[in-house]
Amino acid sequence: MKSKTEAIIISSMNLGDADKLVSFFSLDRGMLKGVAKNARKSFKRFGAGLESFTLVRLHLYEREHQELVRLESSEIIEQHASIGCELGRAAAGAVMLELVREMSPLGERNAPAFLLLSHVLHLLDEGEEPLFLLSVFMIKFLSLLGYQPKLDHCLSCGTRPKGEAMFLGMKGGILCPSCMRSSEEPEIRLSAGAVGFYYHVLRMDMEKVSRLKPSHNIIRELDRAFAAHTFCILGKRLKSTDFLKTVCTI
Ligand SMILES: [Zn+2]
Repeated sequence: MKSKTEAIIISSMNLGDADKLVSFFSLDRGMLKGVAKNARKSFKRFGAGLESFTLVRLHLYEREHQELVRLESSEIIEQHASIGCELGRAAAGAVMLELVREMSPLGERNAPAFLLLSHVLHLLDEGEEPLFLLSVFMIKFLSLLGYQPKLDHCLSCGTRPKGEAMFLGMKGGILCPSCMRSSEEPEIRLSAGAVGFYYHVLRMDMEKVSRLKPSHNIIRELDRAFAAHTFCILGKRLKSTDFLKTVCTI
């Protein structure tokens, strides 16, 4: 069956002498993998349209019960070329792509998540601050996949903390100061500012999110909380966060 879809290229690697194995996040079918036959020889059919971060229109050929689709051709819609030209942008973008690849179920459409990734990559390409965008992406993406941590009330006593709270990665929620002592997990403290920023981002349209100006501390607190949260969901760390930490101060 032939089809076409908008997609964002997550990664592509050489396969045999002439082919490429490509992972992509598509508007119509979610996360998919495919083989681009002769991609390294046919500039006409693929050009630069299999590079990571690129928004493309892919022409696919699928057979039932086959996990790998066949890529017939790729047309570039938006290249996002400047992401790869600056280390901070490239590193933050790599974490986003890894998160999408690791967390999205294969073949499951999630149009809001696709549009979010497309919008965030556009802003990253335009020069918006990479760590801020990564934080925004994490908050909205995890929520769209149903993994939204609950930060508005204490997991133990149910009260709404006014000041600092402690995030529990294993439970995806917080403890208020009076319930903190009994926990045995390593402490990840979240200030009221970080919790406030989190809920602003959750509610806000992407068009307006750039108006928010969180402090570096807020970004750092949320980064630690989300690292613990994604570790609990995936059972492993995201590899690209190591690269991010070598090029950005978090
Ligand atoms: Zn409590």
